[in-house]
Amino acid sequence: MHTAYLTHADCLMHDMGSRHPESPVRLRAIDDRLHAAHVFDHLAHHRAPPVQRAQLLRVHDASYVDFIEASSPEHGLRALDADTRMNPHTLAAARRAAGGAAMAVDLVIGDEAANAFVACRPPGHHATRSQAMGFCIFNNVAVAAAQALDVHGLERVAIVDFDVHHGNGTEEIFRDDPRVMLCSTFQHPFYPFAGADTANARIVNVPLRAGTDGAPYRDAFHAQILPRLDAFAPEMLFCSAGFDGHREDGMAQFGLLEADYVWITEQVMAVAARHAGGRVVSVLEGGYDLNSLGRSATAHIKTLAAL
Ligand SMILES: [Zn+2]
Repeated sequence: MHTAYLTHADCLMHDMGSRHPESPVRLRAIDDRLHAAHVFDHLAHHRAPPVQRAQLLRVHDASYVDFIEASSPEHGLRALDADTRMNPHTLAAARRAAGGAAMAVDLVIGDEAANAFVACRPPGHHATRSQAMGFCIFNNVAVAAAQALDVHGLERVAIVDFDVHHGNGTEEIFRDDPRVMLCSTFQHPFYPFAGADTANARIVNVPLRAGTDGAPYRDAFHAQILPRLDAFAPEMLFCSAGFDGHREDGMAQFGLLEADYVWITEQVMAVAARHAGGRVVSVLEGGYDLNSLGRSATAHIKTLAAL
């Protein structure tokens, strides 16, 4: 079985302005590196379908979904928060990003793929049940986790969020759901200024100072996340895969390298092998330096694909 790779051309049309870091060329950078590294042809390629309303309503308020649909501009840009905007193509892109994440779950649980990477945008982990923020509109990884729980009947799933920012939206959506564990490593104090004081047995937040590089990151992940994951014994694992913690990414001040993303991926896959039949779905979040994003995402996907 291959690693599934899900994307859609609609995700290249969502554009928040020429100076915005969350730009369509991010997906081009990943695509380009996958080709250069001879990984692209080893993946099973799928077009991400649009999400169904029922899939969104598992993790978002109906009034919020209505608001986003009504906010789609006919031309120009409409601001949802200080740094999240919609152009006329954003709604279609957001539907593909969430729909691709849900389809990835169907492929992996249906034994049509060994695991999957969802290369769509906008990203999702800052989106709460009722609010767009931080470049995120629909919470794609949450839609995927809910698909595994509510459609496929899994009882426990875990989300490992290794984006440099805290997955506050994912935490808000699942903090009262005993079926979901969220493990999030993030720079602190830093945007979105959440997660450092969470008191919840299933929300494993690991705040790390600016300047954290591979060795202390791995130590923290090994000590604080792996035992909790093993104790929870999830039946499927998800990655909120952000690569903005790379040393070359100016969005934040972590010092991670490609080898660290390989290591994280191996740890997640090992937990999945122990408890979850190897089931992993990884969903793209951040990563804004195009060169390191392309290299890091390729290293992550190459590891998923055992290439
Ligand atoms: Zn981020």
